[in-house]
Amino acid sequence: MNILTFDIEDWWGYDYYKLGNRQDWKPRLDKYLQDILDLLDERNIEATFFILGEVAVSNPSVVRCIADRGHHIGCHSFSHTFWKQPTEKEIREDTYKALNTIEDCTGQKVTAYRAPAFSITRENCWILSVLAEAGILYDCSIFPTSRSFGGFPEYKSKFPGKIEIDGVSIKEFPIAPSTIWGREIVYSGGGYFRLFPYFKIKALTVDSNYVMSYFHIKDFDKEQKRLFTTLDGESALARYFKNYVGLNTCFKKFTKYIYDFDFCSVKEADAKINWDELPVIHM
Ligand SMILES: [Zn+2]
Repeated sequence: MNILTFDIEDWWGYDYYKLGNRQDWKPRLDKYLQDILDLLDERNIEATFFILGEVAVSNPSVVRCIADRGHHIGCHSFSHTFWKQPTEKEIREDTYKALNTIEDCTGQKVTAYRAPAFSITRENCWILSVLAEAGILYDCSIFPTSRSFGGFPEYKSKFPGKIEIDGVSIKEFPIAPSTIWGREIVYSGGGYFRLFPYFKIKALTVDSNYVMSYFHIKDFDKEQKRLFTTLDGESALARYFKNYVGLNTCFKKFTKYIYDFDFCSVKEADAKINWDELPVIHM
């Protein structure tokens, strides 16, 4: 099962990170979004698009366009705050603001969530119970290995599972790392998707029974200025690699990927899974 997802955050993020201005970027982001939507139409693929609440405010037509083309709409928080130890009030406010804003654009209930930077961890996994109370059925925030921010290496499953926490339940669709060169590596999005040659991506996908991909519009925008800021403790080289390695050929590689494999949205994946056969994960 290969799940196709996108995080739609770029229409405002360049201003936020002081990496340019949105007037310069928006036409190209619009173009790449249309190219992606056309490609998915050609292959009759439904994907899940996690929308940032800020994008729903600044560009409601972008959100409506994605929904009108038949895709599953999820929530990527309102403010793209990397969750460390937020208060319950902060999580509730951000989540409900995002859900209300996105739902106002599409007229549909939002049922899926991905935290910014996969920032649900062992320390703050109580966030999942707030999401479940808000009507989120599917969470896609767990990155079950170490990463520069977020990451939940103690979460041992690399396959969808039902989590029970604080008397509520939520279906978790984690990222699925592969063991490559003795290291846990996620090739289905980000820097490694851009870095690896296509034959490697293809072979890894053939060998996987569950792929959770994660793409951004900026992963394909080869004309963008190579600007970046670093996180605490991160080298400039590491950040450059994460942002830009392999950018020039990424959309071509992505097109091949979409043609070579069947993909589905999180909602479609839910319908394919016999949840009774999977263990329940208590937190
Ligand atoms: Zn994001």
